[in-house]
Amino acid sequence: MTIVADKIIINGRVHTMAAGSTASAPCAQAIAIKDEKIIAVGDDQQITQYAHTSTQIIDAKGHLVLPGLQDTHIHFQLSSADIYHSAVLYEAETLAQALAIIKEFSEKNPLKKWIRGVGFDPVLFTEKELTKEALDGVTAGRPALILASDYHNGWANSLAFELAGVKVESREPENGRFARLNDGSPKGFIYEDAIWYMNRVAPSYTDDELLEAMSHYCHEFNKQGITGVLDAMAPRSYLKNYSTLHKRGDLSLRVRCTSKIFSHQALQPQLDELISMREEYNSDMVSLHSAKFFLDGVMENGTAYFINPRSDNGENSELMFSPSKISEYFSAFDKEKFQLHVHTIGDGAVRAALDGIEAAQLNNGSWDSRHQLAHLQVVDPTDIPRFKQLGVLANFQTLWTQPDKENDILINTMLGKKRSQWLYPIGELIKQDATCMLSSDWGVSTYEPFSIIQSGITRQTLDANVNSEVNTAQHRISVFDAIKGYTINAAHAAWRDDVTGSIEVGKYADVVILNQDVFNISVYDIHKTQALLTLLGGKQVYRAQGF
Ligand SMILES: [Zn+2]
Repeated sequence: MTIVADKIIINGRVHTMAAGSTASAPCAQAIAIKDEKIIAVGDDQQITQYAHTSTQIIDAKGHLVLPGLQDTHIHFQLSSADIYHSAVLYEAETLAQALAIIKEFSEKNPLKKWIRGVGFDPVLFTEKELTKEALDGVTAGRPALILASDYHNGWANSLAFELAGVKVESREPENGRFARLNDGSPKGFIYEDAIWYMNRVAPSYTDDELLEAMSHYCHEFNKQGITGVLDAMAPRSYLKNYSTLHKRGDLSLRVRCTSKIFSHQALQPQLDELISMREEYNSDMVSLHSAKFFLDGVMENGTAYFINPRSDNGENSELMFSPSKISEYFSAFDKEKFQLHVHTIGDGAVRAALDGIEAAQLNNGSWDSRHQLAHLQVVDPTDIPRFKQLGVLANFQTLWTQPDKENDILINTMLGKKRSQWLYPIGELIKQDATCMLSSDWGVSTYEPFSIIQSGITRQTLDANVNSEVNTAQHRISVFDAIKGYTINAAHAAWRDDVTGSIEVGKYADVVILNQDVFNISVYDIHKTQALLTLLGGKQVYRAQGF
């Protein structure tokens, strides 16, 4: 044997997730790794032949071995900083609790010029209780901007509005608005792109703050078996920070990026900017390959766009890009060989996105574009076959398929009975042969992959059993399809399945060993799965104590 491996993993139940592999049996026992890459996959006997005295031997002790997990829709940089450096409101259930958290944060951070917060629940809290005065009372005379967990709603105080110039007579920003009092002055609550309007004056994080937060969360993600992410909204400064983190040796996730395109800005300069970003950032660790479009908002605040008006009040929202602009912008980015990554919540936004992609294909011819629609909260059944036909990928946050009493009442009344049957229809999309990914959309909700995976399989809460309530059971998926959505399909969606996403010779040794075999346990235990060892390019980035 001429080739000597740096590392070998033996005695594993290796599910390679390569084309043709199935859920029923592991495909291999062992892996040989040299210089970041996998050089052989086989049984213990075959692979030990690659070992020499210098080779590190990792005994998987019969545990499940999978390709490293990839989260293909996540706000990694922003949420790392938001959760690391601001008041965190995810747990607050009452206004008093929210205010207490902000007050404590404000007192602990006397030097911060602005008070920032994140994570209030937009179903529990509305413009009724989130007034600017309530926030004035806990921020010690400083301006404050607090964002909801969905990042589509916000809350600011009097001084923040003053600094941003939001007054009685000021106009509403494009694709957003401020809740107003009768006299026209801002009330406190902020909708959609009005948040960007406030962000112009609220200081963002310093690069050092972003880097510090990301170093922390890279490790936390490796602990969960994650080796790759797709940052769902990265401006140029984020790419620069990812690159700096990589040069420092602290980036232990492969990062692909998509960058937001604005409807009120001219096409050509935005296209030029993305082309230049793509040229500058193109490594297997940090790169940009995609243009992000928001076609609508979210259901909870009434900004989702539907094919037919809402069932509760007969209203509808508007698309954030007109149909002609969608086809113009989509065609232009598609022509320059960018992936399109489209935020679509309502079935009207889904259809408009599919129409736009179809128009781009008519204009430019089809290519291996792998355009993807993210969220897909409700899809008209007649549009489902179009995913396969157009080669469009579907990116689901399956944690959100869990039953949630208050939210379900709101959504089901808004949609009516018939449409409510088509909530997050991942099962039907897989049945109709569409390529589907599972992802977190963190900080909107947790990044824990095995909670997200279990939710997609059961469509029940994590503490459920076989008799518990199920949300639209017809769209459940198999364990194997869920794992595909975090491995090979995720790599496909991030345009890196040539080098990651499965355990195959020639690919990077991004590999995770897990404490339990998710294919052979109760589906209700999947969320308890822990990583024992995570390798990125053959390098250990996490090892559990005792393993
Ligand atoms: Zn997102």
